[in-house]
Amino acid sequence: MQRVLRGPRGNWGVSGGCHLLAAPPLPNIPAELGSGLGRLGQALKDQLPTWGGGWGGWTPPGMPPGPRPPEEADVVVVGGGVVGWSVAYWLKVLEGQRHGMRVLVVERDPTYSRASTVLSVGGIRQQFSLPENIRMSRFSASFLRDINEHLGVPNEPPIDIQFQPSGYLFLATPQGAAGLEATVRLQREEGARVALLSPAQLKAKFPWMDTEDVAVASYGLEDEGWFDPWTLLNAFRRKAASLGVHSCAGDVRGFVTSAEDAMPRRGLAPATARIKYVHIHMPDSLEYQPVACAIVVNAAGAWAGELLRAAGLPGGLAEPPLPIQPRKRYVYSWHCPDGPGFSCPLLVDTTGAYFRRDGIAGNYLGGMSPPEEEEPDPGDLSVDHDFFQERVWPRLARRVPAFASLRPRGAWAGYYDHNAFDRNGVLGPHPKLENLFLAAGFSGHGLQHAPAAGRAVAELVVKGRYESLDLRRLGWRRLVEGEPLGEDGVV
Ligand SMILES: Cc1cc2nc3c(=O)[nH]c(=O)nc-3n(C[C@H](O)[C@H](O)[C@H](O)COP(=O)(O)OP(=O)(O)OC[C@H]3O[C@@H](n4cnc5c(N)ncnc54)[C@H](O)[C@@H]3O)c2cc1C
Repeated sequence: MQRVLRGPRGNWGVSGGCHLLAAPPLPNIPAELGSGLGRLGQALKDQLPTWGGGWGGWTPPGMPPGPRPPEEADVVVVGGGVVGWSVAYWLKVLEGQRHGMRVLVVERDPTYSRASTVLSVGGIRQQFSLPENIRMSRFSASFLRDINEHLGVPNEPPIDIQFQPSGYLFLATPQGAAGLEATVRLQREEGARVALLSPAQLKAKFPWMDTEDVAVASYGLEDEGWFDPWTLLNAFRRKAASLGVHSCAGDVRGFVTSAEDAMPRRGLAPATARIKYVHIHMPDSLEYQPVACAIVVNAAGAWAGELLRAAGLPGGLAEPPLPIQPRKRYVYSWHCPDGPGFSCPLLVDTTGAYFRRDGIAGNYLGGMSPPEEEEPDPGDLSVDHDFFQERVWPRLARRVPAFASLRPRGAWAGYYDHNAFDRNGVLGPHPKLENLFLAAGFSGHGLQHAPAAGRAVAELVVKGRYESLDLRRLGWRRLVEGEPLGEDGVV
């Protein structure tokens, strides 16, 4: 195997989520005119509402200005990632009475520098092993196909999520073959178009691949590929805002519940309670803004568990803890002029390593989840480049001999919204906080499931039951009863 052609460390720029706008060069303004303009600018700034210096004075596109949240909202959605905005959008679609429901989305970081949505690799597939996950993918694929009918805004440019149709290709060894075949049977029963390929068929279709240890492969024929997550997030935000959803920058740090009223009388926290106020910590300030609300949706992604832990809930109201936590995942990018061409699928290797092409100019993206005992410290989003060199690259170069020689281009890290209980989303009402709904814990497949999950939770809130998809099994009950739902297809 040749040595990997590797640039100096400095070339491995961390890229991804934070969409920074380069400032245009300043004209050469004479000093006096410059200071006059400065004073005018300051006077205008003083008149206009701002997000405060904590957000760099930059108002992200689509976020209506306004320094403060309202004092009341019908629904407060905590977390303005793709899931939170999807819930907000569907609430307005389903409310049935325009301007009837006041929905507020609270996001603590409007630059989205750590949000999973914008740090993901944008994939959608039908190949899951849990029927609910397949159904959500099918719903989302149909939603994305007609995205302009759903999220188009009159007089705004049409949405182009840059969808790249391309099947996922899962490879199985002889030991894994029966399991993969059974999963494909289930996917077909659910209506997904997935082919099983023998090693000979695999070699004929993808001659650049070493198939020596492969017994069988599954290949998605429809509704699989990848798209631009940032565009989808913005499309949800823009549409939801056009339907009247409010948003504000702030960190939800606590809930005031009805338990606090009952405790002085009874001395003990009651078994169940309702959230009366959400406490929003305002950016760059010591202030808290209470927002009275009827419903709260926890769409805080990888931090959904932390939100409940930190909310200061009395008694056993926070029990059982929500087992959702941030897990750091690296995405590496490389160039290989002799690598697989346009028909390259998103390949998931027998070892768990994956890659896909990135454009059509010989660039690729890929990575691998580490074993449980080697989970990296999620404290920051620094990238471990040795992980690619020592773990990911050898596996991929074994599978694709052309990758024996490649040039690294960059890398970034993001957080999987990992549900440590069973690696599936948790949707629906909290067992003890009667007006809290959860939509989080998708464990690396929340981007593609956001359209379906948002609709499902909005149905629960507005109609009191699931109508489009029956996702009851993804509720809290399984956590309380200790009955995990399996999903083999977590990459
Ligand atoms: C490397 C990587 C690759 C991935 N690839 C895919 C893929 O190919 N396909 C796929 O479907 N999924 C993928 N995912 C997973 C997907 O990105 C997530 O499941 C999905 O984005 C979750 O969306 P979210 O809105 O719940 O979370 P986020 O996008 O993280 O949004 C949650 C938001 O809540 C905010 N927040 C948290 N706490 C608070 C609080 N207390 N107050 C106010 N705001 C708060 C955060 O700031 C954040 O912006 C990938 C993830 C990673 C990291």
